Amino acid sequence: MKLYNTLTRRLEEFQPINSPHVSFYHCGPTVYWTQHIGNMRGMTMADLIRRSLTYVGYNVNFVRNYTDVGHLTSDADEGEDKMEKASRREKLSPDKIAQKYIDIFEKDITLLNNLPANHNPRASQYVTEMIEMIKILINKKHAYITSQAIYFNVSTFSYYNALNKQKIDLNIKGMGKGKVDDHEKKHPADFVLWFFKVGEYKNALQTWQSPWGKGFPGWHMECSAMSKKLLGETIDIHMGGIEHIPVHHTNEIAQSESANEKKFVNCWLHNEHLTISGDKMAKSQGTGYSLSELIEKGFDPLDLRYFFLTAHYRSRQNFTWEALKNAKQSREQLISILQTIYQDHLPDKIDYSNKALGYKKTFIEAISNDIQIPQALAVLWNTVKNKNISPLEKYGLLLEFDQVFGLSLDLLPTQHRIPNEIRLLAEQRQEAKDKKDYVTADNIRKQIENKGYLIEDQERLYHIKQKN
Ligand SMILES: [Zn+2]
Repeated sequence: MKLYNTLTRRLEEFQPINSPHVSFYHCGPTVYWTQHIGNMRGMTMADLIRRSLTYVGYNVNFVRNYTDVGHLTSDADEGEDKMEKASRREKLSPDKIAQKYIDIFEKDITLLNNLPANHNPRASQYVTEMIEMIKILINKKHAYITSQAIYFNVSTFSYYNALNKQKIDLNIKGMGKGKVDDHEKKHPADFVLWFFKVGEYKNALQTWQSPWGKGFPGWHMECSAMSKKLLGETIDIHMGGIEHIPVHHTNEIAQSESANEKKFVNCWLHNEHLTISGDKMAKSQGTGYSLSELIEKGFDPLDLRYFFLTAHYRSRQNFTWEALKNAKQSREQLISILQTIYQDHLPDKIDYSNKALGYKKTFIEAISNDIQIPQALAVLWNTVKNKNISPLEKYGLLLEFDQVFGLSLDLLPTQHRIPNEIRLLAEQRQEAKDKKDYVTADNIRKQIENKGYLIEDQERLYHIKQKN
């Protein structure tokens, strides 16, 4: 298995510390808003990598955190806490905001068929571990205290730019050059480990007692502490979006390696963004579509998953409705092929022909080459189109490949036949009938028929089926 390590900018043979176990930390969302489908792409890319590792025989311990405190409106130490901003916007406590958006996030990633994480730590529940780590950094003289905050002193860590390949002397924008207007700060790139409840944060809603005074942790500290607590001091894989390279992950390395005096992460993985008309999808630009908006437009969440399969995680992917429609068509085509080769009973072991085994080998080669999912998807199509492979072999291989793709092909033929849109209409029709509004019920029935489905009433139940 070869993976592209951002730290070395090279494809490297992946060697877990304690094979076959793999420790995998994925920087999760800040839970202050519904995550748009661009964020969902990052989550799905991590899921595809995790599934690929599992497929080739690794045992992955997957951690994805929820940031529910300390992430300011800029990734550097600037602006207000995103959770508190949301808290004011919605007149709910930060805790309620976190729970609300964690619930939406979990529903969405489940609909996208991402496997649940082994651990989902919430940052606010690991403040003790963060304080412990800050103590170590102060004792080792990597951190200093001012009247406003506790900072990491970047000049004490000579590998500070190992990941981002930048030069700190240049005062690069966004590199800890925060608005914390603190004259006691030693270097513009020094970043906050702990904010005191003073100055612009004197009304902070989420604060904790610390040995140095009341306050709240810096965002970068959270991942270092949670990763150490749940996976150990050195881990195999740490992943996030490419936007985390210059600041967030650079700072995580500095803290963790200074505190633990050990290498923090062996392999750093970063996914590229989902774009729309060439720009990064962003809520602030009004282009941050949510999964529920797609469902309202008649798409199945797995159409979006299929769309994600068509681009490599390190490539930008451009979102268009046309591309999503194409993905939907391809997925539906795949389903109809599966319905024709469906096997009621799969033997424990299928005697694959050499031809079929060849496809399986090519599939493994694709995912073992830095998770080339688009290539692996091409192997799937070549497999189903090959006339020299028996339906049983095809069906067996498809279910195997789907352990990586996650398109729920194993649920066939029972679940995929009726699209959500049709189910929804059927429910609305039943409601209308219950209210004895037969005109509306009949209109909805016609709509269902126009979309190619028949609805048949059976006593109080109804039954939908595709027209022949
Ligand atoms: Zn993180």
